[in-house]
Amino acid sequence: MELNALTIKQATTGLQNKEFSSVELTSACINRIKKRNSDINAFISVTEDEAMDAAKKADEAIKNGSSKTLTGIPFGVKDAICVKDIRSTGGAKILDTYTPPHTATVIEKILSEGAVLVGKQNCDAFGHGASNENSMYGPVKNPHDTTKVAGGSSGGSAAALADNQCLFSIAEDTGGSIRQPASLCGVAGLRPSYGRNSRYGIMPMASSLDTVGPMAKTIEDIAILMEVMAGNDKKDATTVNQEVPMYTKEIIKDISGMKIGVPKEYMELEGMDEEVKHIIEKQIEALKKMGCKIEPISLPHTKYAVPVYYIVVPSEDSSNMGRLDAIRYGVQEKGDSLYDVYANSRRNGFPEEVKRRIMVGTYALSAGYYDAYYKKAQKVRTLIRQDFENAFSKVDLLVTPTSPFPAFGLGEKKDDIISMYLADVFVSPGAVAGIPGLSVPVGNTKARLPVGLQVMGPRLAEGRVLQLGHHIQQAQS
Ligand code: GLN
Repeated sequence: MELNALTIKQATTGLQNKEFSSVELTSACINRIKKRNSDINAFISVTEDEAMDAAKKADEAIKNGSSKTLTGIPFGVKDAICVKDIRSTGGAKILDTYTPPHTATVIEKILSEGAVLVGKQNCDAFGHGASNENSMYGPVKNPHDTTKVAGGSSGGSAAALADNQCLFSIAEDTGGSIRQPASLCGVAGLRPSYGRNSRYGIMPMASSLDTVGPMAKTIEDIAILMEVMAGNDKKDATTVNQEVPMYTKEIIKDISGMKIGVPKEYMELEGMDEEVKHIIEKQIEALKKMGCKIEPISLPHTKYAVPVYYIVVPSEDSSNMGRLDAIRYGVQEKGDSLYDVYANSRRNGFPEEVKRRIMVGTYALSAGYYDAYYKKAQKVRTLIRQDFENAFSKVDLLVTPTSPFPAFGLGEKKDDIISMYLADVFVSPGAVAGIPGLSVPVGNTKARLPVGLQVMGPRLAEGRVLQLGHHIQQAQS
């Protein structure tokens, strides 16, 4: 097996046993990126020099016995997450030359373990999208079929991992951006509960929904990463002050007798791809054989999740995008007046979808419309959250498809905004409610496109969510 195709667990063992070095492992990833990036386009910036230096340091640490679990493991980071002195564009030209003065807390934690950053990954500008076609650096192609999208907004993070260009990726999920591309590319991805991981250093999109989480090849690797990433952070007041569980221990616990709810509103969705439905139903049958109790559940406000999401998110988005004025940082265009400088910089620096959200959000927040739209959406948001609370008083976890369809064609939905927004139909409800969601690869369509199963759990029950995901993966092997 090629070194770059290893899981974190396998690579850590190999490094500790001196079967290969981090320099060799990192070179394997960098070579893979060099070979594939012109086609897949998963990376906006490749940090080869920094990576090779970090790999040498990692090998030293392994030699002198001071290494940790992630020492020497190559990884990529979504470009909407800041890393000090490394170009971080967020997928938008307005930040084409931006090198942040700070590193996101979660990345700081991973780097302090001695992990090796190989580059910054392509994404829809500021996380706005479900196909990676809203990146100003070109779309990411799906490694399973390069005529298809990789999903979004973290398409680069999912595609890079699926294509063995790195061993794990760190991405952001506001309304599905980790789970949906993970599903379309056939890797695992966890959106943690809101407040579980620090958002400090993540380019803000919709602050009351933004989360940062890992993508990896196995759930076991996700558990390893969450033990490093999670926890309270003084720099993010929304992080919870609760002990971080030993996820790697939680996942191996027995699942027999676990009560799993299947929400009827999800399975009955009109327009769901038949093959996806069949693969998910087969997996639900398999769960029964694994000793789980399957129960039908109703989440009656599900149909409002996408409309609520597309009021709340653009509203918060429009105010967050306000900081990008090209005065303090970013690419500044010329203009005859201050107004023209703002207007020209924002006109050229933002893609259409960012402008659309700024307009929708500004409208929804304006005097006279605030009560009718934003406030009302927030009230319905509470109802959606209560649906989940009711469900979790009856069952331990919920399972659903992650996406109603497998990877779609590049360009297929680009001009059909509503149909693109509907790609989030199964991932936005959990995001609106702030609960954790995991996408686990559970099969492929006849055209060999991956299908993901979403596992959702109560707030802060990441351990239980990962536990089921791990058992599903174990049963596959
Ligand atoms: N598709 C969603 C959107 O466009 C996902 C965003 C995200 O999670 N960053 O808003």
